[in-house]
Amino acid sequence: MMGIIEDVLLNARTAVDTVGKKAGQVIDISKLKLAVADIKSDISRKYQILGRVVYEESVTGKDYSKNKEELIERIKELKEQLESVTEMIANSSQKVKCEVCGSYNSKNAIFCNKCGEKINSAEEEHMDTDDMIDFTEDNFEDDDLF
Ligand SMILES: [Zn+2]
Repeated sequence: MMGIIEDVLLNARTAVDTVGKKAGQVIDISKLKLAVADIKSDISRKYQILGRVVYEESVTGKDYSKNKEELIERIKELKEQLESVTEMIANSSQKVKCEVCGSYNSKNAIFCNKCGEKINSAEEEHMDTDDMIDFTEDNFEDDDLF
């Protein structure tokens, strides 16, 4: 039991460190997206372990509440990391955040694709035609990869 939990906690710290280092470098969207995938799978692994800890606790009658607390703290940390990396991706891909529901929309969006609220980028609407014709190679790469 203890071995599994220690492994999980170590993994969590590694993931957080990795993201921290990446954040300090020039933003590379594909790396950030990989980090998002890493963090997401790390979170779901921690949920699994947490379930296992609860099960073991019930079966053995031992008190693992300290381990549970630590796991929950790690999950919270990972979720915060996930949020900041998601925001970095949105910023560097020039997406706009809906002020009502918080979801990200393309820079050219007039209405939020989630809640339908008008997006505050009206002053850039006259740029739409130029933006749509002037696709850069970078844009194509991003779309192909993800
Ligand atoms: Zn919205």
